[in-house]
Amino acid sequence: MTAERLRVLVTRRWPEAAEKHLAERYDVTLNAEDAPLSPAQLAQAFDAYDIICPTVSDKIDAGVIGSAPRRTRLLANFGVGFDHIDIAACKTTNIAVTNTPGVLTDATADLAMALILTAARRTGEGERELRDGRWSGWRPTHLMGRSLSGKTLGLVGFGRIAQATAHRAHHGFGMNILYYSRSAAAQDIEKKLGAKRMASLEELLHKSDMVSLHVPGGAETSNMIGSREIAAMKSGAILVNTARGGVIDHEALAVALKSGALSAAGLDVYPEEPIVPASLLGLENVVLLPHLGSATEETREAMGLRAAANVDAFASGSPLPDHIA
Ligand code: NAP
Repeated sequence: MTAERLRVLVTRRWPEAAEKHLAERYDVTLNAEDAPLSPAQLAQAFDAYDIICPTVSDKIDAGVIGSAPRRTRLLANFGVGFDHIDIAACKTTNIAVTNTPGVLTDATADLAMALILTAARRTGEGERELRDGRWSGWRPTHLMGRSLSGKTLGLVGFGRIAQATAHRAHHGFGMNILYYSRSAAAQDIEKKLGAKRMASLEELLHKSDMVSLHVPGGAETSNMIGSREIAAMKSGAILVNTARGGVIDHEALAVALKSGALSAAGLDVYPEEPIVPASLLGLENVVLLPHLGSATEETREAMGLRAAANVDAFASGSPLPDHIA
C-alpha cells in the first residue's frame, strides 16, 4: 500500500496548516463542521480508516475499539493526555497510539499561571462586578486577593508542564516551589527551579499556599484530591487544575469553597466535559475555564503538525516519534 492511499480520519477541526499537510499526502476525511463523533461513528471508523487522529473529546474505550483486529493501525492523538483512549484495548488489537508531548507545555503552563493569578487576585469576580454595573469605585478594602510573591506553590506531578509552571512561578513571581511525584527530578532541575520534593502528597498539601495539579488523568489519579486531601491543605489555600477533571472530587471542592476552607480555585478541566459540575457554577470564588490550556494559535498548529509527523512516520514505516503504546 502506498502512503497516498492510506485513509486518515481527523475527528475534529484542526488548524489549517496541519489539515493541509495531511490532505496533501493522504486520503483524508476532515470534519469541517467540527461536530463531535458519536461512539457508533467512532466504532465504524475503525473499519473504514487506516489511521484515526482523535482528540480529548473522543472517548475511545474498549467498546469502540472492540476485541478483534480492525483496519485502523494507528491512533495519532492531537494532545498530550491520552486517558480518553483505552491503551490496553489498543495493545490487544495491535493499534499503535501516539500523542503530542512538549509542544503544548509553555501554553499550558501559562494558563496554569493565569488561573493562579485569576484565583488569587479575584479578577473574575471584579470583572463580573464591573460588567453588572455594581462597581462603586476604588476603596482600600475592595476585592482584596492574595499576593504571589513569597508564597509557596505546591506542584502535584513534576513533568514537563509542572516544571514550566515552576519556572514561571519561581523566576517570574518570586514563589517558593515544592513538588510531589513518584520519582524525583534530577538535582540540576530542582536547583534551577528552586524546587524541593516532598515525601508525600499530604506533606505537599500541608505546606503549600497554592497547589497546581499536573498529573495525567486515569484510574491511578482518579479523585486524587478529595475531602481528606483538601482537609490536609492550609486553611484558605488555592487549588488550580489544568491536568484532568477526574483528578479532583468536585463535590468535596465545592464544599471547601463554600465553607472558606479553600479561599479560591481555578479549573480548566472537568470530569465529564463539557458538563461543568452544577455545585461550582454559582460560586464566586472559583474560576471556570473551558479547557483552554493549549489554546493558542501557535500551539494548536504545532500540535497538529506533531500529530501529522507521527502519521508520516507510520506511513513511511519509520519509528513513531511519540509512540506511547
Ligand atoms: P508529563 O511530563 O508526563 O508529567 C506527568 C507528571 O505526573 C510526571 O512528573 C509524573 O511523575 C507525575 N505522575 C504520574 N502519575 C502520578 C501519580 N500517580 N502520583 C504523582 N505523580 C504522578 O506530562 P505533561 O506533559 O506535564 O502533562 C501533564 C498532564 O497535563 C497531561 O497528562 C494532560 O492530561 C494534562 N494537560 C492538560 C492540558 C489542558 O489543556 N488543560 C494541556 C496539556 C496537558 P512520576 O511518574 O515520577 O510520578
